[in-house]
Amino acid sequence: MKLSSPRGTGDIYGEDIDYRNFVIDTARKVFEIFNYREIITPAFEYTEVFSRSIGESTDIVQKEMYTFPDRKGRSLTLRPEGTASIIRSVIENKFYSDSMPLKLFYIGNMFRYERPQKGRMREFWQLGVESIGSDNPILDAEVIWMLNLLYKKLGFKKLVLKVNSIGCVKCRSEFIKEFKKSLNKSDLGKLCSDCRKRFKKNPLRMFDCKKSSCMEVIAKAPDISSFLCSGCRKNFEQVLRYLKNLKIEYKIDTGLVRGFDYYTRTIFEIVSEDLKSAQNALGGGGRYDNLINQLGGPDIPAVGFAVGIDRTIMLMKQLGIKVKRKAGKSRVYLTAMDENCQDYSLNILKYLRDLEVICDISFKNRNLKTEIKWAEKNDYDFVIIIGEDEIKSDSLTIKDIRKFKQYKINWKTQKEKITEIIGAGDYG
Ligand code: AMP
Repeated sequence: MKLSSPRGTGDIYGEDIDYRNFVIDTARKVFEIFNYREIITPAFEYTEVFSRSIGESTDIVQKEMYTFPDRKGRSLTLRPEGTASIIRSVIENKFYSDSMPLKLFYIGNMFRYERPQKGRMREFWQLGVESIGSDNPILDAEVIWMLNLLYKKLGFKKLVLKVNSIGCVKCRSEFIKEFKKSLNKSDLGKLCSDCRKRFKKNPLRMFDCKKSSCMEVIAKAPDISSFLCSGCRKNFEQVLRYLKNLKIEYKIDTGLVRGFDYYTRTIFEIVSEDLKSAQNALGGGGRYDNLINQLGGPDIPAVGFAVGIDRTIMLMKQLGIKVKRKAGKSRVYLTAMDENCQDYSLNILKYLRDLEVICDISFKNRNLKTEIKWAEKNDYDFVIIIGEDEIKSDSLTIKDIRKFKQYKINWKTQKEKITEIIGAGDYG
């Protein structure tokens, strides 16, 4: 058997770890500013948590879930997204209280059995937020604001924020009636077998179809936004007004529907026009005012978003957005020139690590030139050299390999100079 990770999965290592840490650290900072708290839910749930919330006729539930019986025959599913699990947890733990809205964020791996391609995997990572307990449009604006701020802080300049409103259940049923009426026999004949089923069961899901013949038919559909009732229309206008007030640029995309059944009213997506493929959405979200009630909880509205970490990193690299390994920290390479120097070097290493300096010690006994070249190539900023001379004079030599400077320090009397030189005081 050829040893490989399963199709559509991958290992994350090297530079991608630096990108990933940067994305997650930046998101945590943004979430903290808006006062969101972290929640961690299991990577798998009872299948109905997803089928009842995402919707039986969605692509995710129909085709993409990793569902399996456990040893007692209960049906479990690896989470394909984060919202359903969080709502299950909120209901189960009765997190709702007077202090609503409850503001939560999550970071986790998700699983969807999709056809793998660039930017689309079977295991991928998302981070997201849920703001639970208020239907005030200021919260719609708040989550969109956070999404926008996150991508700004990550260094993106040219993203497009698409917004739309798909109204409440009432407006949606009006829309669906008209939509069904607008399709003639020849249109129906052009639909794929899935869309024919969707047409009967849940026509809104036809909008998720990527087949060109179906997309052609759907292009003729009336805009869902022209069916909004006065309450939903007013609500959407308020969201847009808040966004304008916050100077967040957006594009109204009347064709946007998003592939989950639970959405109501505001929905949005952040897309990159630099990503030419169909996988150009970096993240998205919306309001889901009926989901908590539908899953057996109280009638509490909510709004949230999820972004794809892997796809975000892919685009950062494509656009040349660079990240540092760990901002603000110097990295030190301590080279003991031969075995006699190792005990002495170990004391220095201990001293530095006690001060939380990032450092390594060499065990290779190579010549100094090779050691310095190696340190440069491997992202170190300083080399500390310990040879016979240093031991004899109770000292150590520090080489700043970025600025080409060299210092000789007495180990007994000038210890504190070491961290002064390597900038330990600047640690963030
Ligand atoms: P969704 O939960 O489908 O709204 O997706 C939100 C974001 O998660 C997308 O915009 C992508 O960035 C990311 N995403 C969704 N599905 C995948 C996938 N199969 N592989 C990689 N990223 C994905």
